[in-house]
Amino acid sequence: MNKRERELYKKKLLERKQELNHKLSEFYSESKEVETGIVQDLGDEAESSYTREFLLSLSDTERKQVASIDKALKRVETADFGICESCGVNIGKKRLNVVPWAPLCIACQQKEEEEAS
Ligand SMILES: [Zn+2]
Repeated sequence: MNKRERELYKKKLLERKQELNHKLSEFYSESKEVETGIVQDLGDEAESSYTREFLLSLSDTERKQVASIDKALKRVETADFGICESCGVNIGKKRLNVVPWAPLCIACQQKEEEEAS
């Protein structure tokens, strides 16, 4: 995959990340409205517990996505992007267009899901 293509996927990844971050900021403002005055001076500790709560409030899929997107954003800077982490084949553009943060090809993904269930 050339650099230009990777730039396109990077854009997609950042867009998705922004969507999830948007959800995060909504969550933050809601929680802070409720808890204003109670946890004001807790600083970092409060922040990280908000983050934890936020992650818990996400669906499993979204939670995995946050992690996968972060990983993919690192990979997209390198030639490894678009290559299956498990077997090393090209993941394929069709799949990447739908799931740009996919670390595995379809075959490995299915295998992993079967093993998990
Ligand atoms: Zn694979």
